[in-house]
Order: sequence, then structure tokens, then C-alpha cells
Amino acid sequence: MIPFFKKNVDRRSRSAMVDFLQGHCRYDTMRSWNRLTSYANNIKIHHLGLSSEQDNKAYEMLGVNYWEDIRDPIDDFTHKQNHRYTMGLNGRSGGYLVLHASGLELTGHLSYCPDCGQRNFKKVPPASYQDGNEVVIAREILSSQNTCHAAAYLGHPAIQALSLSDDDKLSLIVQLKTALHDCSASDKCGICHQPRRNFCVPPSRLRVSSKSLDQDEDFAAEAWSMAALRERVELVCAFDATCDAIRSNFIALLDGYDVVEETYFRPVQIKTLVARVA
Ligand SMILES: [Zn+2]
Repeated sequence: MIPFFKKNVDRRSRSAMVDFLQGHCRYDTMRSWNRLTSYANNIKIHHLGLSSEQDNKAYEMLGVNYWEDIRDPIDDFTHKQNHRYTMGLNGRSGGYLVLHASGLELTGHLSYCPDCGQRNFKKVPPASYQDGNEVVIAREILSSQNTCHAAAYLGHPAIQALSLSDDDKLSLIVQLKTALHDCSASDKCGICHQPRRNFCVPPSRLRVSSKSLDQDEDFAAEAWSMAALRERVELVCAFDATCDAIRSNFIALLDGYDVVEETYFRPVQIKTLVARVA
């Protein structure tokens, strides 16, 4: 792949690196009135260095939704940056790819249904307990959604009926209240009622920041050591290379596919009057 956006930057030269970072194309991270910008590349059709044949095809493809077919390199980039950076489209009709700070955050889901995929914010309760006393106490705690104070459970008739001293009951109640924290009353999926499973690794999602990146940054400042500058240049070069990979995916689409118009008919519900049979 011949680089289009990616530049060769002399990492031994402070001025070459500063010039590269300061001279890089920038664009808004949100709306223009937020005045927050970051490193960006212009990916409007007439900016992609296409042949006239590819250019015509690209205009034919306006209105075709192909973004999902070419955006894969963004996931590779985000992964390689340990999710600390990602990139996205911005501008009218997505004319710019913009570099964003990002991070992973937990979704808060603790279990899932293997049958229908539904996720749940509660854990599945344990399948077995030490003895009959624990079974009874656990049932009382789960059916009350663990909302009562430990001592209040001593008044529940089922717990009163257990042949244990109140002190022993109380210590079991305290222990089980902790163990059953975040558990739902049963393991049933709320949608399809099949048994759920707890996540071994709690799922997370990417949080994309709209903060500016190096806007009005003074690269001459002491904080920007050669090592820090090199690291920043690496990041922006990796961003540019990812834009190149997306551009080349797009060109592969232009060269390998034709736009064909198809007409779909779909059933429509209409109301009509039908005479009653006498
Ligand atoms: Zn389910």
C-alpha cells in the first residue's frame, strides 16, 4: 500500500517532529461551535487522490452504505492503542476522520443468557449451599432482594423455625447477605426464562472522549521531551496509516464492485370496506 496520508517524519529532529504535529490537518471533535479540535484527515471524495474513473464510481456510490465494509482498520488501531485512542467520522456527511482519546468502561452487566444473549445487571445466585439452614436463609434473603437489615431476617417465620441459636443465625445471615450481594432471586433470563450464566470477565465498552487533543499545544515547552514528542508522532503516524488502510479498502470497493439499482416491493397494510353478506 502506497502511503497517502502517512508521512515520513525524522524522529531524530525535534523541529521535524514539531513541524509535523503543528502542521497536521485538524478538525472538530464535536460540532464546530464547541471549538474543540484534534488531529484529522480529510477523506472527502475529491481529496482521496482517485483516478477519474474511481472518482466517477465514488459519486455513484453516494447513498450506498458501505462504511461498515471499510471501517475494520479502526478496531485494529483502537486495540493496538490499548483503547486509549480511537478514531471516528465527523463533519457533514462524514468528511473527516478524527483522532479521539478513549478508554474502556465496565457496562455493569454481571450475567448473560447463553440462549438469547440478553445481559443482566445481577449475578446468578449460587446453585448449592452448605446445608439446609443456608438454603432457607438464602431463599429469604433472595426473595426480599437482600433489602432487609440482618437482624430483621430473624423475625421471618421460616428463619425463626430453624433449630439454631439467634447468634448463629445472625452470623449466617450476615455471611450470606455479603455472598448474595448483586444476585437476582433466580437464575432465569428475563426474556426467554432459560438459565443465565455469570460473566467470568465483566464486559466493557469503549468510551470515546470529545476532548480536544494538542489544541494550541506548545511543543517547545519542557514537558515535550524528545521521547514524549516521538511517542506523539508515533500515535499520529499510526492514525494516518489507519486512514490509509481505510482509503485503500474504499478503493478496493470502487475497483471491485458496481452499483446496481434494485427495486424492492414491500407489503403495505391498508383499510378497505367490504360489504356485509346479508
Ligand atoms: Zn434468554
